[in-house]
Amino acid sequence: MKRILITGAAGFLGSHLCDRFINEGFFVIAMDNFITGDSKNISHLLSHPNFEFIEHDVTEFISIAGKVDYILHFASPASPIDYLKIPIQTLKAGSLGTHNLLGLAKAKKARILIASTSEVYGDPLVHPQPETYYGNVSTIGPRGVYDEAKRFQESITMAYHRFHGLETRIARIFNTYGPRMRLNDGRVIPAFIGQILRRERLTVFGDGSQTRSFCYIDDQVEGIYRLLFSDYNKPVNIGNPKEITILDFAKEISKLTDNDTQLTFKQLPKDDPLQRQPDITLAKELLNWEPKVDRSEGIKKTFDYFRDLPDDVLYKKEH
Ligand code: NAD
Ligand code: UDP
Repeated sequence: MKRILITGAAGFLGSHLCDRFINEGFFVIAMDNFITGDSKNISHLLSHPNFEFIEHDVTEFISIAGKVDYILHFASPASPIDYLKIPIQTLKAGSLGTHNLLGLAKAKKARILIASTSEVYGDPLVHPQPETYYGNVSTIGPRGVYDEAKRFQESITMAYHRFHGLETRIARIFNTYGPRMRLNDGRVIPAFIGQILRRERLTVFGDGSQTRSFCYIDDQVEGIYRLLFSDYNKPVNIGNPKEITILDFAKEISKLTDNDTQLTFKQLPKDDPLQRQPDITLAKELLNWEPKVDRSEGIKKTFDYFRDLPDDVLYKKEH
């Protein structure tokens, strides 16, 4: 039986990846320190015979007994509010954490896939963003703690590939959403859904003309799965190219959830990228992959998940 280590397993993406690999017949070793994750996301797996959970901070030395065939490194704070609140941990997860996991991959002769991000493109001057674009990131801005950690992560991963012959994969993940996001993690989709459920106004930052392109979790997991088993070691964009302004999205989500929610405009956070859309030509050619889930369908599934959460989660204030 193949054994896969998944870091960030109690988080949004990590927990869905655990489900996928368990369903594919792998033995899953899940690792998390719960800094932004939730044990509830993996509680259904704890009694599974092919699942083991290790509570551990990936920035500390990692020791795993037995063989490891694959590693997915997804441990990192991922929402702007999280990484502004815990900036040093964010830098460490991308740098020291990645170094530890690459060292482990080398020792175990495992193939490793790292979760990079569209944030490596910063506030992009090329649109849509192909993998060949080098990006426009402020090293010293508030988002730099995340963006630069991820850029370093890509660099050290390529260095391990070149110098140690390690089998590496780099997924540049664009905004992904779905069940198991934290309702109050500040990202726009859980933020809007929480506001709809609490009958509050939707907070549109800036004038809402900035764009994003939202990918449903099932499509993202499929893209990551295919990339892991491809033979391509350079970065690959995984995201949904359907782009929308945040203002239009606010109106759309009100309509999709049968609400006539009002809007309120708040200051645009510093260095908030003005446009973002993945060029997925490479993923289409290489992985024969493209997203299948429409935003309307994905939003409905995500809304249903949040609507069924208990009131204490709905009204929990995190910031
Ligand atoms: P998340 O916050 O839900 O999950 C991250 C998980 O990592 C959490 O469970 C957290 O507790 C854990 N973690 C953080 N630091 C850790 C450490 N030092 N040691 C052990 N565990 C640690 O976020 P997510 O959206 O699931 O993101 C997962 C990964 O995907 C991140 O690396 C993120 O950068 C990347 N990514 C996500 C998106 C997205 O849209 N969701 C986009 C681009 C990249
Ligand atoms: N945003 C917003 N209202 C909110 C939360 C976010 O208008 O309550 C905007 C935010 O400024 C950004 C976009 O939505 O332009 C996506 O934000 P998110 O934090 O989800 O992701 P990221 O900025 O990392 O793409």
